Amino acid sequence: MDQFCPYLDWIDSQQEQMLARVKDWADINSHSLNINGLNVMLASLKREFSSLGAAARTISLDSMEIIDPKGATKTLHLGSALHLSKRQNAPIRFFFGGHFDTVYPVETDFINCMMVDQNTLVGPGVTDMKGGLAVMLTALEALEKSPFAESIGYEILLNPDEEIGSPGSSYLFKELSKNCRAALLFEPAFPDESLAGARKGSSNHTILVKGTSAHAGRDFFSGKSAIAALSELLIRIHELNHPEKDTTLNLGYIYGGGPVNIVPDLALCRINIRAISDEEMRLTESRLDEMIQELAKKHRVEARLFVESRRPPKPFDKATEKLFMEIKKCGKKLGQKIEWNPTGGACDGNTVAAEGIPAIDSLGAIGGEIHTHNEFLLVDSLTKRAKLTALYLMKAAYEKSR
Ligand SMILES: [Zn+2]
Repeated sequence: MDQFCPYLDWIDSQQEQMLARVKDWADINSHSLNINGLNVMLASLKREFSSLGAAARTISLDSMEIIDPKGATKTLHLGSALHLSKRQNAPIRFFFGGHFDTVYPVETDFINCMMVDQNTLVGPGVTDMKGGLAVMLTALEALEKSPFAESIGYEILLNPDEEIGSPGSSYLFKELSKNCRAALLFEPAFPDESLAGARKGSSNHTILVKGTSAHAGRDFFSGKSAIAALSELLIRIHELNHPEKDTTLNLGYIYGGGPVNIVPDLALCRINIRAISDEEMRLTESRLDEMIQELAKKHRVEARLFVESRRPPKPFDKATEKLFMEIKKCGKKLGQKIEWNPTGGACDGNTVAAEGIPAIDSLGAIGGEIHTHNEFLLVDSLTKRAKLTALYLMKAAYEKSR
């Protein structure tokens, strides 16, 4: 343990610097669709992460087509991702991931960080995950100061679209994590400090129904109501919810119709599906597809299913368990109790894990009430969590050399 101490102590000296980084980053609005804000964030990340001396490249992400809330097709432009690569030929290679977008739109009034007591910073994205980015960077800076760095190479991917399901960057997670020993991502830990173990898969869909409009008085029976057809489908979808299997289909949004004297020719709904296993995920999605086709036939309407984003389940296999045990051991050395729990929430860790790479994705800061206007960060968790990752990396190098 002694050989690691100087570098862990150095992390303790970085408390102020880490907090300053988080405050600077949280002051930049970087909602997933605020391209200007994302670009300012990207420039700042490039500057700060340059301390690692890694090769950096910016990757612009393809724009995506979505069905807007009223059924029209719309193009969404996405920001650019940052990829850093260091010591590609090192004997041990890791993948590091983090996102720099947040859920707070440009017009939000939740814009300023505020220390509400000595250890609590409230602000947009302070925990999810600008705090996590500071943790990742400081842990790697500590590694780079140590002689252990020589044995460890890494790929870092910082993406701007996680909060909308990573539609433009998912492929990069698959590509860049290839052949890595493990993937470490810096989403927030739970408020009780535990990590996320298994995660459910999650996919978002829009169902669009197009019927035929007609005058409700003069010509009602020549119309085909999109609302009537969709309504029947919604009830059947809701019945697919399965408490024993823990599969859920959440009907989150519906839209349709207009003046009541016209048979409505358009209706749509948005739906989120979650399941524990990949098999169950696929079964549920294909059942949904079948039901939509049956509905179209029966009501003689056009009905289409659009997949907006899809993250496979992240199972907790043997290799993942081994990784968690190693992190737990490091926590014990640092006086940190590390536990983990399964969660229904999905993130980019799901994508990496589905490629067979053991992944821990909640190594970031500790805080709570994320995605609300009360999001807070426990400031002392910044150095605490940076030490956890730094120790894990240095130990991996040390054990390899013995
Ligand atoms: Zn997040």
